[in-house]
Amino acid sequence: MPTMSLQTLSLRTLLFLGLWHSGRRCLASAPELKAQPRNIAVIGAGIGGTAAAHYLRQEFGPGVKIDVFESDTVGGRLATVKIGDHEYETGGSVIHPLNLHMKHFIEKLGIPVRKEVPSRMAIFDGKEFVFEESDWFIINFFRMLWRYGFQFIRMQMWVESVLDKFMRIYQYQQFGYSFTSVERILHAMGSDGFLTLLNQTLEEAMMAEGFSQVFLNDIVTPITRVNYGQSVRINGFVGAVSLAGADSGLWAVDGGNKKVCSGLLYRSKSELIPARVTSIVFKVRPSKSGVSSSFYEVNYVDESGSAHSLYDIVVIATPLHQGKSDIAFSGFSPPIPTHYPGSYHQTVATLVHGKLNVSYLGSTGEASDFTVADVLTTDSKDSVIHSLSSLTPVHIPEGYQRNPGSHSHVWKIFSPHPLTKEHLKSIFLSYDSVSETKWLAYPTYRPLQRKTPPFILHDRLYYLNAIEWAASAMEMSAIAARNVALLAHHRWHEQVGKIDQEDLHTRLRGEL
Ligand SMILES: Cc1cc2nc3c(=O)[nH]c(=O)nc-3n(C[C@H](O)[C@H](O)[C@H](O)COP(=O)(O)OP(=O)(O)OC[C@H]3O[C@@H](n4cnc5c(N)ncnc54)[C@H](O)[C@@H]3O)c2cc1C
Repeated sequence: MPTMSLQTLSLRTLLFLGLWHSGRRCLASAPELKAQPRNIAVIGAGIGGTAAAHYLRQEFGPGVKIDVFESDTVGGRLATVKIGDHEYETGGSVIHPLNLHMKHFIEKLGIPVRKEVPSRMAIFDGKEFVFEESDWFIINFFRMLWRYGFQFIRMQMWVESVLDKFMRIYQYQQFGYSFTSVERILHAMGSDGFLTLLNQTLEEAMMAEGFSQVFLNDIVTPITRVNYGQSVRINGFVGAVSLAGADSGLWAVDGGNKKVCSGLLYRSKSELIPARVTSIVFKVRPSKSGVSSSFYEVNYVDESGSAHSLYDIVVIATPLHQGKSDIAFSGFSPPIPTHYPGSYHQTVATLVHGKLNVSYLGSTGEASDFTVADVLTTDSKDSVIHSLSSLTPVHIPEGYQRNPGSHSHVWKIFSPHPLTKEHLKSIFLSYDSVSETKWLAYPTYRPLQRKTPPFILHDRLYYLNAIEWAASAMEMSAIAARNVALLAHHRWHEQVGKIDQEDLHTRLRGEL
């Protein structure tokens, strides 16, 4: 078992007991001199935008009007498709047990966790399984030990040590602290170690810790491929997040993860504006008294044409990248780009209702004996897919059981490119339904050669998805949403003592 300090243990125990979120933050805010803002715009109704609406309401109270603009569907990259009588996740699907904001949201909204259906995993090299999980923990343990020595346990300890530091963000946010850049958030959590992770590849980070190339190829690569569609040359921070995604106890929301987004929208009493934001213009209005006021003009297009509204604060909760959104900024000095450098990575999610061809996976046994539910893949020229998973519906009906390979079932395939008919014919003996979603899923990760985009684009204009350049996940968007809401509040009320404070970990020790 990984070692954990007593302090961390007590912190975790408190977090688990739910005391963490039981009230407003403990350090009283300074007296507020300025009037509250009148109206705030949030652009994007994915988990980031809806969580931002929730935290902005928490920070600014009931008087402020919050409008959430969404050009497509509430949920964004949390989406489902219907196949037969059931819905299935096509985008963000699993949540780590220590993702406390996501946990807090479902508790507040009264949405249950989806029932768990046991599954077994195997790793495929394009020809055959190179590892197959057993139902017996002890067998898995000895198989791993035989092949890789104690590297498997050391990997879990490494991830646990990153996670222990990561958890500090919840304490900082509960006490109302906020950060102006992704680098500063990471530094507050994990000091220089986290910044080093951001600036090197996962491969470099793990090799420096003594992991072997064989272990990286056989075990780590399949995990980064299923979670981020990329190799071990992603940055070390997102690499650690990816490995945490292979922990046990992962969960999902009953009825679909996107229910959290619609729930947060409703609960925050925000108004959903189904429209595409085309530009944001900074405007200064002189007044008779000589004191000028400034605001943001949000221009948008909806079903009935073009329109605009004026806001005191704007939060952008969609990636400002090619292919993701096209928002023009004007009146800003220095100028704000429509697209930041870097690109988003394509992952194609293909959901197929069909009968699996188990021999495609190199299996020579009977299909009725095939009970592997999650197939991960190594980085081999023979692997056209990144993963293949037997899907359970977003709501598990009473008595539901996973079918063996001989039955028709819904499978989800992640691949870098759309699958051709030939691919589908080789993977399935027969199929009757195919649904394809081409996602620009998450950034194409490399060690950072430049600074991440800023959280603050202008005086009262914030950018939440900057966080994705550290790692893209539902919880990361929720953390950024709370950070941006705190930043917006503190900067509005000029409470600079809550922004970019150094050494919080030591200073807050004992505050619990
Ligand atoms: C295939 C896949 C698998 C994943 N797996 C996981 C997983 O298992 N676990 C996990 O935690 N994360 C996972 N992720 C990542 C996770 O889904 C994302 O990090 C998260 O959903 C991002 O949320 P967001 O609200 O920040 O952005 P988005 O969900 O992208 O929301 C942005 C919203 O803004 C809207 N928008 C864009 N431009 C405009 C405009 N001009 N005007 C108005 N609206 C606009 C978009 O329509 C969109 O709804 C996965 C992602 C994908 C694609």
